[in-house]
Amino acid sequence: MCLKILEDSRLYVLLLKCDEDLAAIARATGCSCGGALHSAGYGRKPRGWVAAPPDGYDRRHSFCCAEDGCRKRTTPPSVRFLGPKVYLGAVVALVTALRHGANARRAAELRRAIGASRRTLARWRTWWREVFTATPFWRAARALWVPAVSPATLPASLLERFVECEAWMRLFRLLDFITPVTTRSGGSNSMVG
Ligand SMILES: [Zn+2]
Repeated sequence: MCLKILEDSRLYVLLLKCDEDLAAIARATGCSCGGALHSAGYGRKPRGWVAAPPDGYDRRHSFCCAEDGCRKRTTPPSVRFLGPKVYLGAVVALVTALRHGANARRAAELRRAIGASRRTLARWRTWWREVFTATPFWRAARALWVPAVSPATLPASLLERFVECEAWMRLFRLLDFITPVTTRSGGSNSMVG
């Protein structure tokens, strides 16, 4: 688990494809009022790149209801963006995970490589420990893991449960698993950069 994962373009291509699928599902589902959804995506300039971003990565999928009198916005869950956080979701998850245990030194190297301050990393740790664990999603999903996932060492304690042959795939699985927290309904809006 190191910088190599964040340099692997396969990770971002897969994350982007996954978000396109999540957007297509949201669009096909339509608005809760029964109305059709129109595209209303918005630009995101995520920080933390150590590789060249694939085309289209800087746009978050979002929709607006076409019905007059509703116009409700629907933003599908995302494997690329952890809510309004300014850094890539993959970066926030991996660097915070490395911070635990024997990987602390590597986390510091990686943090410097992506240009994040020590304070930013501290905020990410707090987010995983206090905000993520309080989301409706995690309160329900934590019961799926036996033995229990330690909340104090999240997201490392969750990442180690995804057993894949390649490290980048494990990171993908983690981001895919927690997508419900990236929307207002399943997560929390009190996220910080
Ligand atoms: Zn509607």
